[in-house]
Amino acid sequence: MTSIIATTDPESQQQRVNLMGLSRLQMEAFFQELGEKTFRAQQVLKWIHHAGVSDIGQMTNLGKALREKLCSVAEVRPPEIVSQHDSSDGTRKWAIRVDGGGLVETVLIPDGSRATLCVSSQVGCSLDCSFCSTGKQGFQRDLSAAEIIGQLWLAIRSFDAFQSGKGRVVTNVVMMGMGEPLLNFDNVVSAMDLMMDDLAYGISKRRVTLSTSGVVPALDRLAKVSEVSLAVSLHAPNDALRDQLVPINRKYPIAMLLESCRNYIDAQSDTRRVVTVEYTLIAGVNDQPQHATELARLLKDFPCKINLIPFNTFPQSDYRRPSGNAVSRFWQVLVDAGYIVTVRTTRGDDIDAACGQLVGEVVDRTRRSERYRSERQARETQVG
Ligand code: SAH
Ligand code: SF4
Repeated sequence: MTSIIATTDPESQQQRVNLMGLSRLQMEAFFQELGEKTFRAQQVLKWIHHAGVSDIGQMTNLGKALREKLCSVAEVRPPEIVSQHDSSDGTRKWAIRVDGGGLVETVLIPDGSRATLCVSSQVGCSLDCSFCSTGKQGFQRDLSAAEIIGQLWLAIRSFDAFQSGKGRVVTNVVMMGMGEPLLNFDNVVSAMDLMMDDLAYGISKRRVTLSTSGVVPALDRLAKVSEVSLAVSLHAPNDALRDQLVPINRKYPIAMLLESCRNYIDAQSDTRRVVTVEYTLIAGVNDQPQHATELARLLKDFPCKINLIPFNTFPQSDYRRPSGNAVSRFWQVLVDAGYIVTVRTTRGDDIDAACGQLVGEVVDRTRRSERYRSERQARETQVG
């Protein structure tokens, strides 16, 4: 096993380990290496994730000597918030700066007694799905486990309820922010372990969801190490169309993906679980009744529920959002075929926090939008 202490923290110029990102096992290994008892690991996990403390000096039950020793090799470094925006519907979005200059976004979506945090796993994304603004910016780098779990840490701390102990601020987590979580496997798994660990956030495995565009070998690997809920971004009922929308389909086509999802579900201890099939509806592209009929046929006997996501527009895309009628028609075909189908309501639209609108850009957004508008105008003038 490689030494945790000697490891250079990827998001730090210093040699100090960021304890924020260590799962229980990693934290225990860390304290063992320091020559300390493993119960120290439990104390530190509670300080960081239960109490929200990032100053090692404040971890009073560790003893002065241990705190000093710890400070020389480790730190607890939360992500750096660049901005926070609140939507009129209660959605809150943070832009976070990561080392190396990139920005990622995290969104908290309250809904009655629930609140779902949408967490990013990478700066940008290499998979370039044709309808996704994150894909349009290309891939910059993976987030460390500390940067992933740090998004939950800061979301919880940003509410007074945390300080006064009034219930849970975040009840559900979805790995549906920027990036493809399965392409940052180890860091995402460590962060999800912390989300579910009672010494950290204690969120049930049913309420932590990983969404993937279909990296089949990594999904097969996930089945062996995790029991989180699974969402799969399908978006098309056949390979020809999916090849265009989700390019990774050319490598791992639909039949292979659905088989891998089924194996994932079969490996779970809870036999009632299903996959959430995500289907982004794009006007005139994949939203016609015949697509719905074909989808119903494709998913026959597949343990799933379907989540329809009307396309969210963003500056560099010519795709359009379907009308309410088109969405209802699509929904009806699937419901008539016996599926459980939900339509995702757009949240945080006024702060660009809806699915597929996260780009991690703050300063440049206006300029980019202007550029896009003038390019579009020029194109339209040419056509006209
Ligand atoms: N990379 C993972 C998780 C991040 S994307 C994945 O692709 O599943 C989270 C969800 O938002 C995916 O279902 C994705 O297809 C969807 N999405 C991306 N861009 C969108 C857009 N412009 N409008 C609506 N949904 C979008
Ligand atoms: Fe990446 Fe998901 Fe966007 Fe596709 S939809 S480009 S996999 S973040």
